[in-house]
Amino acid sequence: MGPVNAAGLAAWIRHAAHLVSADAEHLTRLDAAVGDGDHGLNLDRGFGAAAEAVGALSDDATPGKVVLTAGRAIVSKTGGASGPLYGTALRRAGKALGDRTEVDAAALGAALAAALEGVQELGKAAEGDKTMVDALIPAVSAYEGALAGGADLASCVRAAADGAAKGAEATVPLRARKGRASYLGERSEGHMDPGAASTALILRALADVTVE
Ligand code: ADP
Ligand code: MG
Ligand code: MG
Repeated sequence: MGPVNAAGLAAWIRHAAHLVSADAEHLTRLDAAVGDGDHGLNLDRGFGAAAEAVGALSDDATPGKVVLTAGRAIVSKTGGASGPLYGTALRRAGKALGDRTEVDAAALGAALAAALEGVQELGKAAEGDKTMVDALIPAVSAYEGALAGGADLASCVRAAADGAAKGAEATVPLRARKGRASYLGERSEGHMDPGAASTALILRALADVTVE
């Protein structure tokens, strides 16, 4: 698949909002085990607001503006730790896209890497701390690996989504060292991190809208 444009990224935000809404109960159940049981609700509200804000943009909005707008809406409408983290991720990604009108595989990879950097700067979580970072790091490295191997944009995104899903699975045995789940100490072991699960879902949404 060739480059993706503003309409494609707006479709991603809408589809992510749809998947988050459909999976809200599951995300909340994951968060009930290791946190305060509001992750599904937080994200449903945030991505709902993001989809609405993106829908209100004019037709000449750039891809960067679409992603930046989604990030701002999430920051202002999402409670909890995940709101500022996802908001920052999307704002950084939007900024990385600059004012290009077409996003090719390399530019999308750079935006994904910028999102990870923003999350780590704000949340200070390292790999293995049992957070969304544990889904984002394998997503970025799978994307970059696919890109280096000459894959097209759709294949790179699919690799990232698969990497995130594997990363989320791999959080199950970990002990949380950041966020609310860290208060549980060893009792956080044996449960998937809700933020890692939602990161996998959001990247799955991107893969769904960038198929050939
Ligand atoms: P809260 O914990 O405030 O209720 P949510 O339930 O919406 O917020 O989000 C919890 C998720 O946020 C966790 O599962 C984890 O993935 C992520 N998270 C929490 N703290 C951090 C952090 N410092 N860095 C990265 N991710 C974090
Ligand atoms: Mg919570
Ligand atoms: Mg909360």
